[in-house]
Formats: sequence, structure tokens, C-alpha cells
Amino acid sequence: MNHIDYHDFLKRYRLPEPVFVTQPNMPSLEDYQKSIGEIWENKWLTNNGYFHRKLEQRIAEYLDVKHICLFCNGTIALLVALHALRINSGEVITTPFTFPATPHVLYWNGIRPVFCDIDKNTFNLDPNKIEKLISPDTKAILPVHVYGNPCDVEKIQEIADRHGLHVIYDAAHAFGVRYKNRPLCQYGDISMLSFHATKLFSTGEGGALVVKSKAQKERINFLKNFGIASQEMIIGPGINGKMNEFQAAFGLLQLDTIDKEISRRAALTHTYKNMLSDVKGITLFSDKPDVQPNYAYLPILIDPKLYGMTRDDLYLILEKCNIMTRKYFYPLCSTYSCYASLPSSHPESLSVAHEIANNILCLPLYSSLEMETVQLICNIIKDLKISK
Ligand SMILES: *Cc1c(COP(=O)(O)O)cnc(C)c1O
Repeated sequence: MNHIDYHDFLKRYRLPEPVFVTQPNMPSLEDYQKSIGEIWENKWLTNNGYFHRKLEQRIAEYLDVKHICLFCNGTIALLVALHALRINSGEVITTPFTFPATPHVLYWNGIRPVFCDIDKNTFNLDPNKIEKLISPDTKAILPVHVYGNPCDVEKIQEIADRHGLHVIYDAAHAFGVRYKNRPLCQYGDISMLSFHATKLFSTGEGGALVVKSKAQKERINFLKNFGIASQEMIIGPGINGKMNEFQAAFGLLQLDTIDKEISRRAALTHTYKNMLSDVKGITLFSDKPDVQPNYAYLPILIDPKLYGMTRDDLYLILEKCNIMTRKYFYPLCSTYSCYASLPSSHPESLSVAHEIANNILCLPLYSSLEMETVQLICNIIKDLKISK
């Protein structure tokens, strides 16, 4: 900041109210009150109620998949997915560039996470580095479609098939993404979706598993309800992972406006890309030919040498301007104290992941964000560069 008049800069750019990295798309309160009225009448609050059944069907239709199971949140959904595939010991190969839930779920299932480096273009698991991490203890691969960008699903499946491994996708960011005109969440054995308040499609807390067969769905439905198959028959050590009627009713209303949400985000993303494309040292994701994206996030990668400022300094200046960005995903999971001593956590073998985590920043993106605010954010980023 040495070269700019700081006082002047803030006077020009500081917003009166904070702008957050995301904000949920709220349905009309009147409509939700109507749904709540129905829940009152039904006196059915959870356990596969009317709204639960309806939401399950509507999401499956929207995503263009056959079978989904709703959950109380994405983390429990992923925990149950691993359990359902009987992955409860040994090792699972995953990415360190993700939300803490991904490796934590492995840990809670008695599995040792094995961190694999990421690709410098997709920020997803580098398929060329997976195979040398496979050991006799490896049970599965757990990749993440980070920011909704598809992993190299074909290569990953080929490796998994060759070694007899399961593939479970953490598709928490990938709601509605299509790849080669297929739903992305159809790849792998099971995909997990998150409907947390910060996600593109939300039920406050919530999540789902996209599964491959009716039989698998039935088993998972038992597992998410304590293993209860009938009043006198418990099929195994299940857990409580059920979504309740209030969440499901909220989700149904959100689903009505999801296409509008996505197209508004696309327009905002377009402006970000146009305005930032010529700023040296700032890289945005480019569109990929086979991908129909969902515009869930707006990550930029900062090259401190070319841009003249580090990610951390840009973060602080934006914060002073009342623009709350997020360092998704810094720090890397492999650096958490609970995982840092794993052999696969050595920074030397995760050099791309470290580089990306140190230079990534997610900018605000949600449908009610004003276009003028996006322009202002871009102008700040441009101005900081020019003043260098
Ligand atoms: C949000 C998120 C989760 C956890 O989902 P919850 O619904 O909050 O439990 C898991 N993985 C990734 C990559 C996420 O972003």
C-alpha cells in the first residue's frame, strides 16, 4: 500500500455496509409461511414426510438423475456413503484443497486420508499423481469437484477400475453442473451434494447422496434412520441423518428459482471476467467446452510477482473496503494438526496445492449482489495494480 494514498483510496471505495462472499437466495416469506401452515396441518415433522418425498422427487428431476437420498447435511451424507460402501478401514486417496469435512469424514469412518496433489489448472485431484499413492490398504478415491469444476472423471474412473477401488465424489459445490451433457453427480459410485446456507442451492443445513440403484437407495435410507428397516428389524449400526420437513419445504421453494439464481450469477461472473481479464497477475477460470457450469463461486488466482501484491494484502484491503472475500481453501487440510504428521501431508509432495492455497481468493457472488458492486470490486483490484 506504500504507493497509494490510503485515505483517499478508502474514501473512494469503502462501502457503507459489508458485502459478504455469498448470501442465500431467500424464497418469499409468504410462500414459506404457507408451507409451514401445511406442516402444521399435517403434524408430520420428519421421517420421510410429504415435503421430503416431494423434494427428493423434484431434485432428482432437476438434476436428471434416478435416485437421490436427502440428508440433514452433506457431511453426514458423505459419512453414510462411505459406510454404505463398507469403506471403514485402510486408506482413501483425497485432496488437501477442500473444506475440512472431506478428510474429517474419512477420519470418523476409521480411514486414514492420503493426500494427493492437485492439478494447477482445475485445482482438483491430479490424476497423474494418484496411482503412485495406491497401496494394498487403499479402498477408494474421494475427489472433490472444487468450485463445481469437474474433476477428470474419466481418468479417475479408469484408475479406480484398474485397481478395484470405489470412487465417491464430494460434489458439495457441483449442484446442477453437467459434463458432456450428463449430470456431473452421476459419475463415480456415489456423489454427495451439500445444501448448506452458503451453497448455490440451500435448505439452511442439508445435503443429499446421488446413488446408482433402488437397492442402494433403500439401504442408505435405513442407514440414515438408525438402521431401522421396520419396527422390529434393525439392519445395522445406522445413524440419524434425516432431513426434516421445514428444510424440505424451504428447498422446494428454492428450487423454483434456481435457474434464475444461476443465470444472474452467470451475468455477474461475465462482468468479473470482462473487467479483470486484462489485469496482469490475476487469473480467472476459463470456460471449458464440455461443461455446463453452475457459477457457484468466483475464485481468482493472484500471482504476487505480476500483480505486485500478495493475496493476503488484497484480502485485507478489500476487507477495509467492507468487501468480505474468502480464502477458500486456505489452510490446506494436510496442514491441520490432526493430519500434518501423515506421510502424505509432506509439503514437498503437495507443492501445487500449497501454491494455489496461498494465492487463491473467492470474491462475492450471489444473485442479489448489485452489478455496480461487482464493478466497484473490479475497479479496486485494477486500481491497486495500476498504483504499483
Ligand atoms: C460445504 C462442504 C461440505 C460440507 O457440507 P455440509 O452440508 O456443510 O455438511 C463438504 N465438502 C465441501 C467441499 C464443502 O464445501
